[in-house]
Amino acid sequence: MSAGSGLGSSNPKDIVDFLVKLSREEPVPSSGMMFTHSYETGDPVLRDLARRAFELYMDKTMLDFTVYPSLVKLERDVVSFVARLMGGGESTAGTFTYGGTESIILAVKAARDFFKSRNPDLVPEIILPYTAHPAFVKAAVYLGLKPVLVPVNLESFKVDLNAVQERVSRRTAMIVGSAPNYPVGVVDDIRGLSDIALDRNVWLHVDACIGGFVLPFFKDLGEPIPDFNFKVDGVYSISVDLHKYGYTPKGASVILYRDRSLRKYQFFAYSRWPGYPLVNTVTLSTRSAGPLAASWAVIKYLGYDGYLKLSSKILNAKKRLVEGIKAVGLKILGSPESSIIAFTSEEISVAQLSLSMKRRGWIIQVQPGSIHLGFPQSIHLTVSPIHEGLVDAFLRDLRESVEEVRSNPFKISVEDLVKVAGIRASLSELVEKLGLSREVIVEDETLLLISEAIRMLPPDFVETMLVEVVNEIVF
Ligand SMILES: *Cc1c(COP(=O)(O)O)cnc(C)c1O
Repeated sequence: MSAGSGLGSSNPKDIVDFLVKLSREEPVPSSGMMFTHSYETGDPVLRDLARRAFELYMDKTMLDFTVYPSLVKLERDVVSFVARLMGGGESTAGTFTYGGTESIILAVKAARDFFKSRNPDLVPEIILPYTAHPAFVKAAVYLGLKPVLVPVNLESFKVDLNAVQERVSRRTAMIVGSAPNYPVGVVDDIRGLSDIALDRNVWLHVDACIGGFVLPFFKDLGEPIPDFNFKVDGVYSISVDLHKYGYTPKGASVILYRDRSLRKYQFFAYSRWPGYPLVNTVTLSTRSAGPLAASWAVIKYLGYDGYLKLSSKILNAKKRLVEGIKAVGLKILGSPESSIIAFTSEEISVAQLSLSMKRRGWIIQVQPGSIHLGFPQSIHLTVSPIHEGLVDAFLRDLRESVEEVRSNPFKISVEDLVKVAGIRASLSELVEKLGLSREVIVEDETLLLISEAIRMLPPDFVETMLVEVVNEIVF
């Protein structure tokens, strides 16, 4: 990069050109070619509006609302829109956060401190279906709760209520249900969980991170959506992401509580230092108000009717995708009520299928599964409104890819796997075996091997391996 006329050593144009070049080499979130990580309406006006609102507020911090009082208004408006969507009433309270993980950490903290205020001497436990998002386990690890994992039915992928009933105890600080879960898109029996929670006087959290902006609209479009929100009496808190089906820029979510008296357990205040009196409503302090302003703008722009229209596009795409996926001989997991589809195959490697689709430009997500936990290898599809116009092209490529994989199955050598499994102590051997290096982007065949290793090896070993590889090689 050449020296420019500004303060730094590089010319801004060169810097931007360089970023444009880097960015062009990657999948494009707005393209509609991605069935994971992207939630795309296909509406350029929306994208532009979000960008302008973001830019207006990006230099303002959410740390101190006394300096920027408009942030209080924006946050109240956003939270109350989501609260209404979740069947909340006068007493419902919440906060804007930077993502689903943060919403979940805050809900777990609130539930822990609520529990501790009544049971100061017990180590709190959190009951989690195996399909719950890992953010709950992370929150438990961060905050000193014991995760108690309970099985799900491997046909329906809904949490096993009897197992919850058996594990709930006086140490239980929270029970979690998903609406829907991320891997398969199935909604847990929230009424069933609520009955248990009310009976045992335990906090029930509903994770509607991915479903919060879809399920209410699907219901209004006539789909049979089970009850999952504050209309169910035992539900104390709900997490809803804006940066998924709220179609806002990344860094936006909401955590809601049935009652303001529960929300206070999430806050943190401190006045024993020589600096400013600190009151944090969330985990971070200094943070850009850009995501909040953009979220406010997008919600204003779409409103209930806009989200309803976008949901009907998703529903249309989803129904055609489910039929098309079945028609090529793949098996849909569970009966997903929402906007997520997961499928598997007993005949071909769906991980290999994902590579075949990738060569055709489609990004679909491999879920490796685990022989130890009984989870199948599967493909996850997050369906967006933009996909409505791309279903036929997608299914045509899927058909071709299935044929391709059928006629040329990738053989994973047992020897390779044994070597991976046998080198617990030696990262360098693993690196060598997988052909990984800091310089080289992981090759497709290596991804297949890694995926297969994750499926075959014990989860604790896989977790250690993932940390080592990312720590040593990626960053
Ligand atoms: C995305 C998601 C989360 C976590 O949200 P992040 O925004 O990625 O931190 C939690 N639960 C479910 C069901 C999700 O889909």
